[in-house]
Amino acid sequence: MSEQAETFEFQAEISQLLSLIINTVYSNKEIFLRELISNASDALDKIRYLSLSDPGVLESEKELRIDIVPNKEDKTLTISDTGIGFTKSDLVNNLGTIARSGTKQFMEALSAGADISMIGQFGVGFYSAYLVADMVQVITKSNDDEQYIWESSAGGSFTIRVDEEGPRIGRGTKIILHIKDGLQEYLEESKIKEIVKKHSEFISYPIYLHVTKEVETEVPEEEETITTEGDNKPKIEEVEEEEEKKPKTKKVKQVKAEEEELNKTKPIWTRNPSEITQEEYASFYKSLSNDWEDHLAVKHFSVEGQLEFKAILFVPKRAPFDLFETKRAKNNIKLYVRRVFITDDATDLIPEWLSFIKGVVDSEDLPLNLSRETLQQNKIMKVIRKNIVKKTLEMFNEIAEDREQFDKFYSAFSKNIKLGIHEDSQNRPALAKLLRFHSTKSGDELTSLQDYVTRMPAHQKQMYYITGESLKAVQKSPFLDALKAKDFEVLFLVDPIDEYAFTQLKEFDGKKLVDITKDFELEESEEEKKQREQEEKEFEGLTKTLKEVLGDKVEKVVVSHKIVDAPAAIRTGQFGWSANMERIMKSQALRDTSMSSYMASKKTFEISPRSPIIKALKAKAESEGASKAVSDICHLLYETALLSSGFTLEDPNSFAKRINGLVALGLDVTEEEEKAEEAPAAGAVSTAAAESSMEEVD
Ligand code: ADP
Repeated sequence: MSEQAETFEFQAEISQLLSLIINTVYSNKEIFLRELISNASDALDKIRYLSLSDPGVLESEKELRIDIVPNKEDKTLTISDTGIGFTKSDLVNNLGTIARSGTKQFMEALSAGADISMIGQFGVGFYSAYLVADMVQVITKSNDDEQYIWESSAGGSFTIRVDEEGPRIGRGTKIILHIKDGLQEYLEESKIKEIVKKHSEFISYPIYLHVTKEVETEVPEEEETITTEGDNKPKIEEVEEEEEKKPKTKKVKQVKAEEEELNKTKPIWTRNPSEITQEEYASFYKSLSNDWEDHLAVKHFSVEGQLEFKAILFVPKRAPFDLFETKRAKNNIKLYVRRVFITDDATDLIPEWLSFIKGVVDSEDLPLNLSRETLQQNKIMKVIRKNIVKKTLEMFNEIAEDREQFDKFYSAFSKNIKLGIHEDSQNRPALAKLLRFHSTKSGDELTSLQDYVTRMPAHQKQMYYITGESLKAVQKSPFLDALKAKDFEVLFLVDPIDEYAFTQLKEFDGKKLVDITKDFELEESEEEKKQREQEEKEFEGLTKTLKEVLGDKVEKVVVSHKIVDAPAAIRTGQFGWSANMERIMKSQALRDTSMSSYMASKKTFEISPRSPIIKALKAKAESEGASKAVSDICHLLYETALLSSGFTLEDPNSFAKRINGLVALGLDVTEEEEKAEEAPAAGAVSTAAAESSMEEVD
């Protein structure tokens, strides 16, 4: 061999993945073929897409097809395509040296009990070849490079060399699998047909299986039987026949190589929905999405009139592992124009919040030679997109008719619905109907906003919700008291995205949505109003003292009829952040801190005139003014209210000190005793510090 093979190490994670695949005892090995055919189909898609703007790229090989060639003698199975091929650097980068995020995720999924057949979802499907092969060769030719052979028996490394001698490939890739001992069944025609039918029926390029057939023909006696070797050419074997009287001809059995197309069905979306079975949809969905499970819901429709297109949209059962990763390829809707695949990268076909929807769209109106740029501005695309969103919403509403199905849907995609509410002002009201939350009246179940409305007492005008970190944190919030007392239901919003969605939503069914951790007006009767005004007067002195003590920590101190059992709470202004939002923003590492000063919550310290603690404090403050004891109690009340209202403490240590003071009081520990305990400890620290600084000097 004139050309030296170059050896490369597999990236560590890939190496691990390979040994996992090779060593696993796994019965459903056949999925390797689905993965390789799917890769072949992708490679064909890529060259077809390029050819739309530059037809010249097809010169190297005009026909777009996939071939499967079993060879029992050599124990090889070859899967070839006339797709885009690999350049040398593609081989290096895509087959072994660079791990994708899916590599690790897939291994984690496996150790958590996932099935190997899920491999395609994680973007590492190629390696499934090692389920059936102990050695794999990839012979490939791209328009932009020479013909190469990639080769590996796993085991940590692979080689790449220029292929100077092998049969020439016009363009595309041949994957040669050297089938492991004991797995010869994958070389059987019937087995291959069965697998292709099961997993790859809907591939939109023809898949040809190369089969051999024995045929008997009569040939003139004198003629020499020719035996030819090589690709695609018939092999002829001479067979001894009994001598016949007719001397001129004899019968020979010929072993003929033939091609059989395995996927002749016409595109499923062009067929009449009433004639398509659920199994066919499921099988189409799986081939489209690489999913190992059936879809949750499907919508097959056509739009006619000014603009014509057909589409099938699917909702999966689960969210993909990388749903909200920004780097994720968002190629979930395949765009066809008059049955010709155009691209799976038309991000404008569906809004981001619906990026979990899979499907196909086949337009009658778009031009075939679409470039990425023209796709983006295309008016037809905009109309298609609008229709897709509309039909998707219809599909969601259909799912909502079945409680069990909807629960699955909602637990997988509620974040998307909420993102939709945030981003799509037009469909906001429709999407709001799909929301479900726990509430003060929902028990263990979730409630819809519509159901909430039906439970509203006549005198309730607004809809209430509380935001917080977890159900536990909000269920006992002091803010709930007054609403519970009035029999008003409160929704629990504990997903960070809820708060974003609700700030956009603002109202439902004509009723204002009110965050009860912020300032708001609670419906009150004349009598309640009178009582409140009287209490405000009564406690005016105390509110002044409290404001004096707390200073700038709070915007104002008010007497509140909206808290009942708890002595105090901290509510934020209507327009700034809520406590929950402040927590969310603080936890975002890359956030712009300059916003915080505008948005940071303006805090109102509310005290309950009905609380015995507040009543006692009032008496104490009236006799002592802002004494040290009163001031300490004020601070404690304030800090405790911060915590119970969902804020974090700015200075947890002084809070701890005050609490410890109380504990000491409860245990009758005197101040002197405390100090005496502290002193030696402080001494110990300083010795240690001295030692460590001595070490540094050394
Ligand atoms: P993916 O899910 O991205 O297909 P694979 O591990 O199956 O992951 O393949 C890795 C990459 O190798 C693909 O993204 C593609 O770029 C390339 N590839 C795989 N098979 C082929 C092929 N038959 N022709 C051209 N490129 C291919």
